[in-house]
Amino acid sequence: MPTPTLNLPFLEPNAFSRVGVQRTTFLVDSTSRFVCNTWDEATAAVGTSTLENAVAMFDAIIIGAGMYGAYCAHQVWRRGGKVLLLDAGPFFLPEHGQNLARGLGFEAPGAVLPESPEAQVTRNQVWGIPWRGNQIFPGLAFCVGGKSLFWGGWSPRLTDDVLADFPSAARAFFARTYERVELQLGVSRLNGAGPVRGTGFIDETGPQGLTAVLRNAIGSFITTATIPASVQPPEIAPVAAQGDNPTSGLFSFDKYSPVPLLTEAIREDIERAGGDDTRRNLFLVPSTRVLRVGVTDAVADRLDVFTDGVRKSLAIPPTTNVVLAASCIESTRLALESFPTPEMGRNLMVHLRSDFAARMPRAAFPGLKTGFIETAALHIPGRTASGGRYHIQMVGGANRENNGEAVWFRTVPDPDMLEGILRNDNPDFVSVVLRGIGEMLGVKDNGTPDPNVSWIDLSPERDEFGFRRAFVNLKTTPPDDALWNEMDEAMFQIAERLGNGGTEFWVNGQWTKTRHPAGRLKSEGGIRDALGTTYHECGTLWMGEPPFPSPTDARGRFRHLRNAYCADQAVFTRGGSANPVPTGMVCARATAAAITGQDVPFAPEPGFRSILDFPDRVATTPPGWRQLGSGFFRRHGATVEAVGGLGLLVFTAEEFENFELRLQWRAPTIRNNSGVYVRIPASRLSSVNSALRTGYEIQIDNTGERPGDASAFPQEFNNPFHQTGAIYPVHDSPSFPDPNGSPTTGTIPTRALGEWNDLQITVAGNSIRVRLNGFETLAAGTYVDQRNTYPRGHIALQNHFKGQGVQFRRVRIREI
Ligand SMILES: Cc1cc2nc3c(=O)[nH]c(=O)nc-3n(C[C@H](O)[C@H](O)[C@H](O)COP(=O)(O)OP(=O)(O)OC[C@H]3O[C@@H](n4cnc5c(N)ncnc54)[C@H](O)[C@@H]3O)c2cc1C
Repeated sequence: MPTPTLNLPFLEPNAFSRVGVQRTTFLVDSTSRFVCNTWDEATAAVGTSTLENAVAMFDAIIIGAGMYGAYCAHQVWRRGGKVLLLDAGPFFLPEHGQNLARGLGFEAPGAVLPESPEAQVTRNQVWGIPWRGNQIFPGLAFCVGGKSLFWGGWSPRLTDDVLADFPSAARAFFARTYERVELQLGVSRLNGAGPVRGTGFIDETGPQGLTAVLRNAIGSFITTATIPASVQPPEIAPVAAQGDNPTSGLFSFDKYSPVPLLTEAIREDIERAGGDDTRRNLFLVPSTRVLRVGVTDAVADRLDVFTDGVRKSLAIPPTTNVVLAASCIESTRLALESFPTPEMGRNLMVHLRSDFAARMPRAAFPGLKTGFIETAALHIPGRTASGGRYHIQMVGGANRENNGEAVWFRTVPDPDMLEGILRNDNPDFVSVVLRGIGEMLGVKDNGTPDPNVSWIDLSPERDEFGFRRAFVNLKTTPPDDALWNEMDEAMFQIAERLGNGGTEFWVNGQWTKTRHPAGRLKSEGGIRDALGTTYHECGTLWMGEPPFPSPTDARGRFRHLRNAYCADQAVFTRGGSANPVPTGMVCARATAAAITGQDVPFAPEPGFRSILDFPDRVATTPPGWRQLGSGFFRRHGATVEAVGGLGLLVFTAEEFENFELRLQWRAPTIRNNSGVYVRIPASRLSSVNSALRTGYEIQIDNTGERPGDASAFPQEFNNPFHQTGAIYPVHDSPSFPDPNGSPTTGTIPTRALGEWNDLQITVAGNSIRVRLNGFETLAAGTYVDQRNTYPRGHIALQNHFKGQGVQFRRVRIREI
C-alpha cells in the first residue's frame, strides 16, 4: 500500500512556508487545498483531544472516504451533523476517472496474489493490497473516493427474497430509500409522475433498436421454455450514469462518484461558517490511516492514526460516533483489531462471476433496423429452483472486433469518434458481451480456520505500523458451485438461442461455434473470474436482529458498542447477485440517519407537542427560539449542543403557566454544566443577565460544582443544590426564596455518559416536580415556591462555558 505523505504545511515555492496551492512543473493543484484539511487543522477546530477535556466535537468520525464513507459523511452533514472524514490516501481525482478521459490510465490494475512482489508496491498511482489471502486480488484504491473513481456503474437492487433475510427495520429503510439512491446515482430520473429508469445514453431507438429486439427475443425464449427455467424476463439496464438531466433544474451528470458531492458540500460548509473553522461541520482529512479504534466500557473512546508521517491519537467523547467505511476487508480488520467478537469475519461473500464475448448473424434478428446500431444493454435476472440468485449483464453493439462493449464506457462526448466507430461496424454481425454475477451464500456458523468456507481473520503477519494484516479465505461451497454451473449454462444458452444456430464465441483469439470449456477460470481457458477479483466482498459484519447473533444491528451499529458503526458492504446480511453499490448506499444512509437522530421520526406522546424542530436539513436555529448572551447552540441533526457561554436559547414564541415539559439531554463528560429554565418572564428577556436571574433553573451538572470557590475543593463539588436534577438556588434576585427542603442528595440517577437522559418537569401553580429517568430528584418530591415568584414565562436551555457539549433534543410540552 502507498506510504502516506502529507506535506501541506511545506509547499512550493518556499519549502518552509505554508501556501494555499501546490505547483508542479505541469499542474496547479487548484482543488485539494480548497477541500481538504490536515489532521491538526481539523482537530484544532473542535477543541482539545485529551479525554478529561474532550468536548462533543463530531457527531461522526468516518474512517474511509470511498464510495460509502464519503456518501455517509455527506448524509450526516446534510442532516445537520458535524463530521470528520478520514482517508488513508490522497485527494487524487475530483470525480470518476471515466468522466475525465479514457486512456489516462486511471483504471484498476490486474489481480495478483497479495504475497507476490507486484502487490508490495503501489500500482496505478493509488492501488495497494494491505491484506493476505488465498486468492488473487486487484486490491483497494487508497484515495479520496476509493473505488468510486473506477467503478463500472451497474446498479441493480437486491431482490425482495434476498432482502427478506435482512432485519425488519433495515427492510423498511430499504423500501423507502432505494428509489432516492437510484436518483442520486443517475440510474433513474424524475419524469412527470415519478422516477423513470433508463439513462438516455443506451439505445433508445424504439422497437427496432437493438435493446428492444434483444429484450423481445429473450422474453419469447422464456415463454416457450427454450432456455433454463431459472432465467427471468429481461429488464432495463440499471446503470449509474446519467445522459439526460435527472430532473428539471439539474445538469446531467456522467458516471457517479460521491467526490463531487463531497467537494460541493465542503465548500458550502466553509462558506456558511464564514471561513471560521470552529464553526465548520464537515472536514475531509486525506493521507490519514486509522490504525486502531480504542474502546473502554463499550464506548469507542480513542482513535490511533498515522498522519503526515507521524502517529497520533485522538480522544473521542461518547457522543461522537465512529463509523468504519474502509471497505469490507479493511473495516473487518479494524473491527477485529479494535473490538472483536466471535461472529466477526464470518459470512464472507463475493460474487461468482463469468463473462464471454459472442456474435450472432444480423439475419437472426429480422426486426432489427438497418444501418448503425447503437449500444444496447439489458439486465437479465435469474433465480434457481433452490432460490439461488444470479443476473446477467448484457451489452451489445455491432463492433467489428470481439468487443460488444466498444462504445459502452466512452463518456467523453465526441460524436465524430462515435460515428467513426459505428461506421466501422460489422454489417453482418451483432456482437454481445454477457457477464453473469451469481450469488455466493455466506456461512455464519463456521468461523476461522475452516478452509472449506469463506471468512476474514487477522493474519499472523504485521504491517508497517505493527498491526496484524487481514487474511481473506475464499472458497465456494457445493451450493455455490451448482449455482455457478447453472448461471454459466444459462448465459451460453441465451447466446446460442439468439444466434439461431449461427452464434460464435470468442475463444483463444478467434471466433468459433464451440463454447469455452465448462467450469474453468479464464486463466484456464474458461469464462470464470477468480473469486477475489469482484470487488464485491461483503457480509463479514452483517446486520441482524435478536435473537440471532450478529456483529451489527439494522443500522450498522456494533451491537456490543454504544457509539461505533460500520457503513460499508461488510454489514450486508446476504449479498444476493446484485452489484453492491445501491444497497451499500442505502446502508450508509441508514447509518447517517441513525447518527443524526432522524432514523425514526420522533412522535411526541398523545397530548404533547414538539417545540424544538428544524424545518429542513440546513436550518441552524429552530423556529421560535432565540439566542441570548454569548456562545451559541450548534445544531447536530435534530439535536442542539451547547457551545461556549454564558447564554440561553429561549423559546420566545410562547409563554407557559402550568405544563409538563419533557426532553432528553446527554453530555460527553462528567463536567457537564447546563440547565433547563422554566417560567422566565417575558419582561426579563432584554438581556441574558436579566433572564438568567429569573425563572427556575433545573440544573444539569453531575459534579455538583459550586462555582467560584476553588479553595474549597473538594467541597466545591457534590453540592446538592448544584447537582443534576436540583432547582438551582443561587439566584441573586432578592425576591427568590430558598427552596423548601434540600434538593437531591446521594447518587444522581443519570445514565452513562453519552446516553440520553429523560427529563420531566411538571410546573403547576406554585409547585415544581422534577423526574430524571423516572426518578424524583427533589428531596420532598415537589418544590413549592410559597410566593409563586414567577407564575408564567418562557422555557430556555442554558449554554454554560463549563458545560460545553451538553446536548438537548425532543423538547415537547403539554399544557395543564
Ligand atoms: C473496476 C471496478 C468496477 C466496479 N464495478 C461495479 C459495478 O458495476 N457495480 C457495483 O455495484 N460495484 C462495482 N464495483 C465495486 C464498487 O466500486 C465497490 O463495491 C465500492 O466502491 C465499495 O465502496 P467502499 O466505500 O466500501 O470502498 P472503497 O470505495 O474502496 O473506499 C474505501 C476507502 O477507505 C480508505 N481506507 C482503507 N483503509 C483505511 C484506513 N485504515 N484508514 C483510513 N482510510 C482507509 C481507502 O483509501 C478508500 O478510499 C467496481 C469496482 C471496481 C474497482
